[in-house]
Amino acid sequence: MRRPIIAGNWKMNTVPSSAAVLAENVKSNLSNCSWADIAVFPPYVGLTTVVAALKGSDIIVGGQNLFWEKEGAFTGAISAGMLAESGCRSVIIGHSERRTYFGETDERVNKKITAALAVGLNPIVCVGETLEQREADIAEEIIRRQVEDGLADHDDLKNITVAYEPVWAIGTGKNASPEQAGEIHFFIRNLVAQRWGKAAANEIRILYGGSVNPGNAAALAKNDDIDGFLIGGASLKADSFHQIALSVK
Ligand code: PEP
Repeated sequence: MRRPIIAGNWKMNTVPSSAAVLAENVKSNLSNCSWADIAVFPPYVGLTTVVAALKGSDIIVGGQNLFWEKEGAFTGAISAGMLAESGCRSVIIGHSERRTYFGETDERVNKKITAALAVGLNPIVCVGETLEQREADIAEEIIRRQVEDGLADHDDLKNITVAYEPVWAIGTGKNASPEQAGEIHFFIRNLVAQRWGKAAANEIRILYGGSVNPGNAAALAKNDDIDGFLIGGASLKADSFHQIALSVK
């Protein structure tokens, strides 16, 4: 049985003081959760206050992005080592907002995964098609390329999680139906089996993300190939994040 992950991507929301309050509230509901790994991804400037607020719990803190170089003249960039030193244990890589607004490519995703793993950060690698691509019936082709090229240099997927996040479902209130999500999760698991072998396919955790809320999480969680959620909007309220976590129990 794969242990589910419930991950909250806070995006560009919260300042350090409000991030600490949200973290405290998440902690009071989900500290040392027995049935799932719980992770939160605050903005960079909130990382250390959130790590401090979560002390004594096993809730994972992660970065929302990183740059693959170790250090140097890269104004505005944050390295994997900086995240690790700040108390992070995970990092989101290839989020569709990074791909859309900041020119993230599969080649860069691949390099970022290498940098993350080198310092012991477990990456959550996001893939997903746009509405146009789904309507043109090329969703699987797009996801195949994102998985194969994004993970190209990685023979061992042990510390890597994939998040299927259809772009048309992120922040739109339109979630994929359990059938739509299940189909793509099954496709990704088969893809992993073909390229990395059956054991890797059985082990890898594949999260769904895209307008998950307390009302739709349970139906999505019923699918055996859905191993938890990457949650944006609904993770900004400790109570709805808690309700979603309960849906995978
Ligand atoms: C996300 O940011 O990864 C996400 C899925 O956002 P939302 O839940 O708001 O759609």
